[in-house]
Amino acid sequence: MEPLPQSALFDTRRLQLDVALQLLQQAGALLPDSEPYSAEWLQGVIDALCDLSSRDGLTGLANRRSFEMAMSREVDRVARSGEPALLLTLDIDHFKNINDTYGHMAGDQVIQAVADALKQVVRPMDSVARVGGEEFAIILPNCATAFGATVAERVRERVSELRIEVSPGQVVVVTISVGGAFAPQWVRSSSLLWMERADRQLYRAKAEGRNRACLEPQIDSLVSAEEKGMLFAVTQQEVE
Ligand code: GH3
Ligand code: MG
Ligand code: MG
Repeated sequence: MEPLPQSALFDTRRLQLDVALQLLQQAGALLPDSEPYSAEWLQGVIDALCDLSSRDGLTGLANRRSFEMAMSREVDRVARSGEPALLLTLDIDHFKNINDTYGHMAGDQVIQAVADALKQVVRPMDSVARVGGEEFAIILPNCATAFGATVAERVRERVSELRIEVSPGQVVVVTISVGGAFAPQWVRSSSLLWMERADRQLYRAKAEGRNRACLEPQIDSLVSAEEKGMLFAVTQQEVE
């Protein structure tokens, strides 16, 4: 892309920022406190807009769009490094019943409580997102394959322990079903395929009775690390 001429960059009279500023104010975002319309201020507004467009309004978690970008980055990283990375997809069980019994606002509170619990139960390097109404997903980079089932189970258990007070004296308990799959190592793949594999396990967890975690069975590769390195180098040369 051609860089903008300096005059265009700073001709702030041509910028129509009203709607953007209104959006940020409504979302409770902090506006930059530098000189209005200065380059620094405009950068602050752009940063705040980027942050707003990547988050889910109800929970503050990453939204589906930014999560898909994070997944693509992780798929590329795993293809290069061969490090294991786990994707978990999670869905609240019988959530419709909660809305029907306690009302939509209570349902929203439950979604927020589950989101907070998920944030707390994972490591800071993990990415948690709300990818649908009562659906969440987590990328766990550098998660050893032997620990996958334990991690998924810990997440499931933490949510089942929540006691969510949706109105004075009214406590709701929820469970989630969890599906999981590791990113393909040493091969180029797509984030869509990764999500589909984890989702397939989530459907299995639902079908097998809910409130459980199912992980895709691991197939141990017979290729040595050295051979994998050579394979990857060849693929790289072909691309270049
Ligand atoms: P299952 O165990 O098979 O997942 O059953 P379920 O009832 O959780 O699944 P279903 O997909 O039938 O219902 C999900 C419901 O979530 C339906 C929809 O009205 C509700 N929902 C989606 N987004 C929101 C939201 O943001 N807030 C609230 N309160 N409800 C929502
Ligand atoms: Mg659902
Ligand atoms: Mg559900």
